[in-house]
Amino acid sequence: MADKLIYEGKAKKIFQTDKADQVLMEFKDSLTAFNALKKGEFQGKGELNCQISTLIFHWLSQNGIKHHWIATRDKNKMLVEKTEIIPLEVVVRNFMAGSLAKKLGQTEGLKLKNPIVEFYFKKDELNDPFVNDDQITALGWADQKTLDLLKAEALNINSVLQKLFQKIDLKLIDFKTEFGRNQKGAIILSDEISPDCMRLWDEKTNRKLDKDRFRQDLGEVAESYQEVFQRIEKGVRL
Ligand code: 5GP
Repeated sequence: MADKLIYEGKAKKIFQTDKADQVLMEFKDSLTAFNALKKGEFQGKGELNCQISTLIFHWLSQNGIKHHWIATRDKNKMLVEKTEIIPLEVVVRNFMAGSLAKKLGQTEGLKLKNPIVEFYFKKDELNDPFVNDDQITALGWADQKTLDLLKAEALNINSVLQKLFQKIDLKLIDFKTEFGRNQKGAIILSDEISPDCMRLWDEKTNRKLDKDRFRQDLGEVAESYQEVFQRIEKGVRL
């Protein structure tokens, strides 16, 4: 039986497979920013993000992080455990950048004294607003125990990712993750981990190698994603 399309987002399509607890994620070549007000694409982007995410999921497994990845198929498709997504984006920041720099009137690039974990409510119509713990528990999206677990897990992922990126001269400025509950009720890392949802700067030059090149019209978007892929490929072997 052919896999059935159950969801199409800005950068991915999700198909239900024959197995009730497994879905196929297809990575699209489209690029969007500012809640899809800015749209673009480049050929091979879906493939690159899928391959980058695959390498990172392997790295996370080797370092004891549980996630939804099962197998990669056809270069731009991933078989993953089906999870019920918690409607929160969990952002970790190591350096000042992006929306936090704008909100606090700071220049980008300042190393933070400690990593920051933030929650955003996943709601396109509201531009994914920042929410605090009390707002989340009051609305019943997650209880405090779950939030504490998400924070600890996000910080753990941050440390494991930094260990990889340090080997290949990349600064992990910040990143966004999502978590979901699998069929057994365990909370695991879901979605993708790619330059679409991370800020990565070259350690020596501070050159941006992520979606900010598209957001800020800096050019060489495809080349930067390719470079990230090549560096990570090297990093996982070092
Ligand atoms: P900021 O809040 O500074 O815009 O984003 C912080 C980090 O989370 C950045 O690495 C950014 O790419 C990622 N991020 C925030 N919101 C989203 C989102 O809706 N989609 C994706 N793919 N990444 C996001």
